Amino acid sequence: MQITHELKTAIAAVRLASTVTQAVQQHLVTADTLEKKDRSPVTVADYASQAVICKALADAFPDDPIVGEEDAKELREPGNAGLLDSVVSHATKALGSATKHDVLDWIDHGGAVPDGHTQRYWTLDPIDGTKGFLRAEQYAIALALIEDGRVVLGVLGCPNLHADHGGRSGESGAAGSLGESGVLMAALLGRGAVSLPLNTATDEGSPVRVSAVDDTSKARFCESVESGHSNQSDSARVADALGITAEPVRMDSQAKYAAVARGEASIYLRLPTSSEYREKIWDHAGGSIVVQEAGGTVTDAFGKPLDFTHGRKLEHNRGVIATNGLIHDQVVKAVGEVIG
Ligand code: AMP
Ligand code: MG
Repeated sequence: MQITHELKTAIAAVRLASTVTQAVQQHLVTADTLEKKDRSPVTVADYASQAVICKALADAFPDDPIVGEEDAKELREPGNAGLLDSVVSHATKALGSATKHDVLDWIDHGGAVPDGHTQRYWTLDPIDGTKGFLRAEQYAIALALIEDGRVVLGVLGCPNLHADHGGRSGESGAAGSLGESGVLMAALLGRGAVSLPLNTATDEGSPVRVSAVDDTSKARFCESVESGHSNQSDSARVADALGITAEPVRMDSQAKYAAVARGEASIYLRLPTSSEYREKIWDHAGGSIVVQEAGGTVTDAFGKPLDFTHGRKLEHNRGVIATNGLIHDQVVKAVGEVIG
């Protein structure tokens, strides 16, 4: 894959943000916060990650809008001064010196709202899978570049995803297992997807490729840990219809797209839990291009292509199905029969 200035910048930014999220996870996610379901660690990491990535993108591409999940409105409130101190302290460990004003402004730099005429913008989920982060399980830092409504670049930083994946053909590897090294996946439209070490500054990636499974009964599928994010009873019925006997691999975040991209699973099902919910662009832009460039196919639950031309949400899509491509039509058909 040819490394463009955009890709190099995105990879470096996601790596730097991951040093922040990993430090926060090591220091602030404790038995105590786990027990109390205390969300403050992820709040600190979310803001600091967005600040670090927005600064890197603003330095390199000052005219590019960034559509991030967070903004600094609440963080600017006087009652959140302690939280702000913690965010600034973690962000400056990665960036060197920075003032509170700088950090707040970088976070707000990620507050762009795209409309149908925004030709080029980045979209960022500074911590996707916040519940996984709080459980010290899977989460991802997800960044993508959208040009003329098409995702042209995606980078996923998965700090807790194991660098070694096993059993591509038999799909017997430990998808979702925790590893020390972390994985970064990067994709450019038309130029493939690669996997790189997350915590080593190298551009040397190895190509990633989806599984070759063409018999759905041998496929393994992954889905959210959270039943509120994806309908797990519908997915169990779909699995039955496809003859799948293996248990689903449940993991948080766009690490699921990484698992499909590198052949650890052949299917990612995200089936609607309500008719109102619309998926957010930053939850799917990075992951979907990684799977597509690894040879897979991504559509919504009804087989429609994901449409990134309607602002912050996938207004015209519902749910997501990502597969290795070979079995996509069969999976879409089975989902259609189950959810109607
Ligand atoms: P996951 O880790 O795959 O469960 O997905 C986490 C993402 O789910 C978060 O970033 C939220 O934006 C998104 N989310 C929140 N509520 C819902 C919902 N009702 N359906 C689908 N996704 C949701
Ligand atoms: Mg998210």
